[in-house]
Amino acid sequence: MVEEQLRRRGIRDERVLAAMAMVPRHLFVPSGSQPESYEDRPLPIGDGQTISQPYMVAIMTQYLDLKGEERVLEIGTGSGYQAAILAELSKMVFTVERISALVQKSERILTDLGYKNIRFQSGDGTKGWAEEAPFDGIIVTAGAPEVPKALRSQLAEGGKMVIPVGPRYSQTLLKILREGDHFEEEDTTGCVFVPLVGEFGWKEE
Ligand code: SAM
Repeated sequence: MVEEQLRRRGIRDERVLAAMAMVPRHLFVPSGSQPESYEDRPLPIGDGQTISQPYMVAIMTQYLDLKGEERVLEIGTGSGYQAAILAELSKMVFTVERISALVQKSERILTDLGYKNIRFQSGDGTKGWAEEAPFDGIIVTAGAPEVPKALRSQLAEGGKMVIPVGPRYSQTLLKILREGDHFEEEDTTGCVFVPLVGEFGWKEE
């Protein structure tokens, strides 16, 4: 997975590559899908949700340029796999998920794996996690109609955010760098994420 799907496609951050080589992705997918866990695609995790494609996890993580001392907010815990990668690379991870069954499942897996630097919250991540702001990095792993205002305001000075933005079923991965009150934005690759559903996201269908 790391050599063929990540390094060969241009993932260069050795810390990201090492974390993805180390975290056992198969533990984060339902047992029936375990043989496919390292394939080049997202997989269903139940409740109509998915664990993202490994390359997408890598490219989003690489953008945050984590050195080990950061506080990172993730919106969309899902399986907990991305949270594990972030926990390997930063000081503290705050992860929010709206489906409580997924919060419970992912918390159990991550606790069993021994992660002590992840805090979980069940709720609407379009509002961020104000009590713990500001964050050096914010990663949104569901597709948003636009960047939620609260997430911008919870980004630290010099902080980076990566978020898929666009129509409900196809988005562009947006990279954002905060410099004072200015937000430098760059569109990168096209992508397809499940919708970010919440007060400042999509309405439930
Ligand atoms: N990062 C996940 C992983 O590693 O498995 C993949 C996340 S999945 C593509 C997107 C997740 O975002 C789903 O679990 C979905 O329930 C969640 N989600 C959607 N809207 C949300 C919201 N407003 N707040 C928190 N989580 C949300």
